[in-house]
Amino acid sequence: MTRETLETLERLDPRTPAWPAGQSADRACPLCDRTRQPVLRRPDGLPLSYCAACHLWFVACVIPDSVLRQFYSDYWGTFRPAPRTSLGARRFLDAAEAGANQDIRLQRLEALLGGLKGRRIFEVGCGLGAFLAGAKARGAEVVGQEVSSAACEFVRAKIGVPVLNESLESCAETAGSVDAVVMIDVIEHLARPKEALTSVWRMLSPDGLLLLWTPNGGGAGASLETSRSWVGFRMDLDHLQYFSAATIACLRDRGGWRIEHLETVGFPDLEAGQATSGDRQIRLATEYYGSRIPGARQLVRAVKALGRELRVFGWRDARLGTYHLFTILRRAPAGFGPDGVGEPRVWTAEDGASRAPTEVDSETSGDEDGRKR
Ligand SMILES: [Zn+2]
Repeated sequence: MTRETLETLERLDPRTPAWPAGQSADRACPLCDRTRQPVLRRPDGLPLSYCAACHLWFVACVIPDSVLRQFYSDYWGTFRPAPRTSLGARRFLDAAEAGANQDIRLQRLEALLGGLKGRRIFEVGCGLGAFLAGAKARGAEVVGQEVSSAACEFVRAKIGVPVLNESLESCAETAGSVDAVVMIDVIEHLARPKEALTSVWRMLSPDGLLLLWTPNGGGAGASLETSRSWVGFRMDLDHLQYFSAATIACLRDRGGWRIEHLETVGFPDLEAGQATSGDRQIRLATEYYGSRIPGARQLVRAVKALGRELRVFGWRDARLGTYHLFTILRRAPAGFGPDGVGEPRVWTAEDGASRAPTEVDSETSGDEDGRKR
């Protein structure tokens, strides 16, 4: 299939980034550098490829760093507008602190770290600081990193959390060892996720933890048929790759990481950027999943009724859905990886060989042995 004849998916999310035309440079798989032919086009026009070796869908053209820098410099002002006034900050802090006890990410970190008090937590792409505010309220020592200088200003001045307006690579040099690195809705935005994971590995203490929260690309499956109906390719079009649970297993198998926690949770936020009540989100999720999963409607109705009964409305139990991948990886000891810094090893032909071929696999290609060196 040539690029010109790629099927383009229908628009679902009105917030489509205006990528400048002409990003023609091909992007290989951002985890293994193999070249893969695009098989679909997103509503924003960007081609999508699937890497069968990494079980990873990814945008198959390069978006220049300068374009990405520009896009993220005012991300919280234009693309995902959020009130950054003092009153907005107060409400935001109140919600973050009140929600900290129910946050399943903090709960898992607390269990694995043996407590949060005094633990050093570093968040990559901390945005407006909601997660760190909650972690701080639970006694953790927190530091953030964020590329948007406007967001940094807000987090420092109004949320009271230190944040570095530097690249992740330079943070890895200066931040020293931390007990946990958190990447919530971040890895899917990065042009070079493999290099980012290496930087994270370097800044972690010897058995430190990496918490990854990202859209679950496993929802797209590994065939054209399953992928073209996946909601994730039609919304949040600022994403550049889609990790699956099998991708996480690949990270483990290539060295440097052990899996401590892995689950799928939550619903797509189809109304992102607009004020929504919990009720509306539940209705949307019920509509979406109700026609796809037998019994989903009844289940959501029953759980909702139970929530009312227990007077815990506003619960929005993320664990009902599968839109996100929630994983916690433990840094494996130095020397576990091939060069002692946890970088993925060089691939062998066996890496993707055990799987049955799929429709998408047959569309992929590389050099003669399917590999790019
Ligand atoms: Zn790959």
